Amino acid sequence: MKKTPFITLEKAREISAQIPTPFHVYDEAGIRANARALKQAFAWNKGFREYFAVKATPNPYILQVLKEEGCGCDCSSYTELLLAEAVGCTGHDVMFSSNVTPEQDMQKAYDMGAYINLDDATHVDFLEKIADKMPETVCLRYNPGGSFTISNTIMDMPRDAKYGMTEDQMAGAINRLQKLGVKHFGIHAFLASNTTTNEYYPELASNLFRLAVRLKNATGAHISFVNLSGGIGVDYRPEQPCCNISIIGEGVRQRYEQILTPNGMNDIAIFTELGRFMLAPYGHLVATVLHQKHIYREYVGLDACAADLMRPAMYGAYHHITVLGKEDAILDHVYDVTGGLCENNDKFAIERSLPQIDIGDLVAIHDTGAHGHSMGYNYNGKLRSAEVLLREDGSFLLIRRAETPADYFATLDCTPFMPKC
Ligand SMILES: *Cc1c(COP(=O)(O)O)cnc(C)c1O
Repeated sequence: MKKTPFITLEKAREISAQIPTPFHVYDEAGIRANARALKQAFAWNKGFREYFAVKATPNPYILQVLKEEGCGCDCSSYTELLLAEAVGCTGHDVMFSSNVTPEQDMQKAYDMGAYINLDDATHVDFLEKIADKMPETVCLRYNPGGSFTISNTIMDMPRDAKYGMTEDQMAGAINRLQKLGVKHFGIHAFLASNTTTNEYYPELASNLFRLAVRLKNATGAHISFVNLSGGIGVDYRPEQPCCNISIIGEGVRQRYEQILTPNGMNDIAIFTELGRFMLAPYGHLVATVLHQKHIYREYVGLDACAADLMRPAMYGAYHHITVLGKEDAILDHVYDVTGGLCENNDKFAIERSLPQIDIGDLVAIHDTGAHGHSMGYNYNGKLRSAEVLLREDGSFLLIRRAETPADYFATLDCTPFMPKC
């Protein structure tokens, strides 16, 4: 599908007059419409709930918008729990899916009354140690081992993944937890990332539903929810297929009817922990063209770099680029679009066909709303960019200021190196 930015040149200029580039901008209307489509797709399930994966876009304004759409927060660390708490998400509005969990983090999740998703059977003891009284409901993360395939395509290799526990370990953990007074159980698995097939969730769901039946039969436990976690992808490339959330919801419903209903388990709530699907398409990284150079290739240098968006450098990920105001111009130039890090992998695009680019042009890098700003870092002394929320009425709001050198120096003590007077 043709990729059209949600921001015009005019709007980008209006924002950049107040908030200098680079910045990430988020489309509130798009976020809300998509969250509603997800809810609609799973409306057949009484307890359905999306717990937004906070790590994708850890900003309280974004969490607030999603909260207004009925989403909870999926947290993996102490600070993510604090963020959830800051927007009033506590108790069962919070899912805590962590691994290699520090005690402080587990304690905080427990104190908040969050659903705790145990990554390993040994974490039963770990939880017992910090809990005055065991929670009524505990979630367990499953790792089926082997390879995870959908119609002969290998999606990922769970046997190589550090997450979750085996089925036997799950049954053992449930037995122990029941003795400790836990009454209800959730089961969770995350088996493939950024999937663009409508079959991922239904296939994962059927694995987890069958597992739920086996665990119930083996332990007598009451399974109260199945957490399908994240993993629904987006079409980063224009020619890529795009998921259809209503088809996905219907696929999960069919597996539910086939597997859970005949076993009398149709009180199970479906939970999701989507990050990318909820936010990626609704963010752009807006940057200004600073320089051009002509050597063995044509280079366009931006004021943004991999510190603002790491995915191309880290995974070779494709991010579509629109030169604002030149949306309909012919793509008769080939450029490498780069940032200024002293790393040759700091390239947002390699040999990309684009319209003629001029110094001062504003570009929108697409699909940066999830795992974009949040993966930012300070290499080369680069300062993390601002985040802006484009509201439904067309106004905009600074939701995170850009870092300043004072932020960079905040954790350093330079006084020993100052000249003595
Ligand atoms: C990263 C993560 C998610 C979100 O993944 P997306 O690919 O952004 O949907 C959800 N749950 C857990 C446990 C994760 O680690």
